[in-house]
Amino acid sequence: MERSFKREVEALRLGAGDTFHGEGILAVTKALLQAGVSYVGGYQGAPVSHLLDVMVEAEDLLGDLGVHVETCTNEASAAAMLGASINYPLRGAVTWKSIVGTNVAADALSNLASPGVVGGALIILGEDYGEGASVIQERSYAYAMKSSMWLIDPRPELPTIVSMVEKGFELSEASHAPVMLELRIRACHVTGEFAAKDNRRAAFSSLNRIAGPPRFEYARLAHPPVTFVQERLKVEDRLPAARRFIREHGLNQVLGGLYDDVGIIVMGGLTNSVLRALMRLDLADVYGASLVPMLVLNVVYPLVPEEIRAFCADKRAVLVVEEGSPDYIEQQINVELRRADIRTRVFGKGPLPATGEYTSEVLIGGIATFLTEMRPPGLDVTAVAGMALAAVDHKPAAAQAVGELPARPPTFCTGCPERPVFSAIKLMQRELGPTHISADIGCHAFATFAPFSMGNSILGYGMSLASAAAVGPNLDRRPIAVMGDGGFWHNGLITGVTSNLFNKGDGVLIVMQNGYTSATGLQYMPSSKSGRQGAAPGMDVEQTLRSLGVKWLRKVRTYSVGTMVKTLKEAMRTAERGLKVIIADGECQLARQRRVRAEDAEKLKRGARVVRTRFGVDDEICTGDHSCIRLSGCPSLTVKPNPDPLRTDPVATVIESCVGCGLCGEVAHAAVLCPSFYRAELVRNPHIGDRFMHWLRRRVIGWLGGRAEAVS
Ligand code: SF4
Ligand code: SF4
Repeated sequence: MERSFKREVEALRLGAGDTFHGEGILAVTKALLQAGVSYVGGYQGAPVSHLLDVMVEAEDLLGDLGVHVETCTNEASAAAMLGASINYPLRGAVTWKSIVGTNVAADALSNLASPGVVGGALIILGEDYGEGASVIQERSYAYAMKSSMWLIDPRPELPTIVSMVEKGFELSEASHAPVMLELRIRACHVTGEFAAKDNRRAAFSSLNRIAGPPRFEYARLAHPPVTFVQERLKVEDRLPAARRFIREHGLNQVLGGLYDDVGIIVMGGLTNSVLRALMRLDLADVYGASLVPMLVLNVVYPLVPEEIRAFCADKRAVLVVEEGSPDYIEQQINVELRRADIRTRVFGKGPLPATGEYTSEVLIGGIATFLTEMRPPGLDVTAVAGMALAAVDHKPAAAQAVGELPARPPTFCTGCPERPVFSAIKLMQRELGPTHISADIGCHAFATFAPFSMGNSILGYGMSLASAAAVGPNLDRRPIAVMGDGGFWHNGLITGVTSNLFNKGDGVLIVMQNGYTSATGLQYMPSSKSGRQGAAPGMDVEQTLRSLGVKWLRKVRTYSVGTMVKTLKEAMRTAERGLKVIIADGECQLARQRRVRAEDAEKLKRGARVVRTRFGVDDEICTGDHSCIRLSGCPSLTVKPNPDPLRTDPVATVIESCVGCGLCGEVAHAAVLCPSFYRAELVRNPHIGDRFMHWLRRRVIGWLGGRAEAVS
């Protein structure tokens, strides 16, 4: 991990009497320490990566508190870690990105939730819908319901977030069930303050170890026949205990309001968005005082029937603001009200859309529709409808004024080592024809966008090779699976490689070895060149593959496009059966730039020589056909007007952001394009040799120029 979290780590040291200022996700981290956690772990993924990153960097502080930190290789291992809380009074927290991570962790979560826990077990999930999400649009709610785990969705303000973390542990212990706490991007990055408390050393931790294992107790295993008893415990003991705790400790909040014959029941995490929408309708102030009563569900599962009934009893109608589908909360509220014979009408999906993110605009429209339909006495609904319209009616005019904007698909960073591999695949396919490409999760998934548009399926993180298992035998050409080294260690090693070898599969696997789990923020992984404690963890992709029995294995520097094309062709054509692996080796450019920039700054301070490589295009040679752009897709390679008045086609040009990776030159060479690319070295603090070469070059160029003039 190249980024420093020094400032964040300092904030974790605050104690009673101090005020914490900062972001939501850091507040969660601080709350874990205040709650006396004994162990933390997880697998990174936006928007919760920060939690684990900060914990890793705060190892000294955590060591003082006896907190064990584990950077897990996937979410399943993180979930299984919570097994410590089944037998021991140890509070533990793990984190990952949901829903994908929860899918990976599902087996361990089921087997954790069945016996239940004695120590508080908290699972912190990053969860978003619509454009806030980068993954499949599913809800963790389903997992909470199916496994009888409780789901907290805190109102995005720091005191509530901190209190929910602390209460989450208590809820887990009071009901003997794991608790999930979901955080949207907005909750993770909301800023604010709260009164800090002292960090707490856990009663048992690495500083005060538990003497010996517990007495053998079969009931602590998720194994028949006790699972039948555990099912009963979940429903008859743990659920009522959880509801009692939620009610007695006031985890959900009721915000009063003037128009009290209607109300809004909102998932805690959406509270700020709803208040903002109400404000735009003149129904709330900037401090969150609402004129429409609200029931804020900081715990979205389980619902507490008494609270639902009490809130709805005197209302003609309520609007349920529940993001995502299915509408689990809305359905439960309907059932509760019918059971209690309360005639309150329930709105939700209808005024609000069934899918996508609930942005301010969506909520303004939904709330206005609800209020216009219900017409609360004293409220001018015509004015509300007018305000809802005014909030959006400027948009068409604004769009027209701006005009059509060029599409900006997400893409690799400038100089990314993974881009050249897709240039090479493109060149290989020109000759051998198109083949099936199994894509994967990671930065390389950017190749699914223009100008590469490669990838026929994405089945999950590290799953590309496994997802090609039935493609190969049914296609006349070998499929190519692309996987990152992060995906390889996360899952691909077992589900892909081992399974392929076990089944004597064929096909081609490209492992992008960039050295980090880059897409989630440059975390270290088993084959990184350095690790948490400084030294490299010492595991190696190539050695691992060879030890498993992979015979056909090539390691190619990613920027060597010509060699990569040749290797790909060989892999596609060879008569040799079996898995063919190409390790595409090239350090993540983002990580490299961060490192090199710091090293260069230090060298410049010392007056040492620093060289920066840049590439450029010779305007006079460029033909303007732009094949180089289509083949490389580098954002630093663009077009500019042709300086030659006799030629109209814009010419290619390299802009300032070029990091000098050399790909455009390599592509031009490998694809036999025009020779318009040149390489330049910008030397700062040149030494005597540089100065001499500069003098010499100028003389030679001057002489050639003079000679040319003399000849003409
Ligand atoms: S983070 Fe690294 S691997 Fe990912 S796109 Fe950027 S340079 Fe490439
Ligand atoms: S050398 Fe070419 S491909 Fe590499 S960063 Fe510069 S413009 Fe982009």
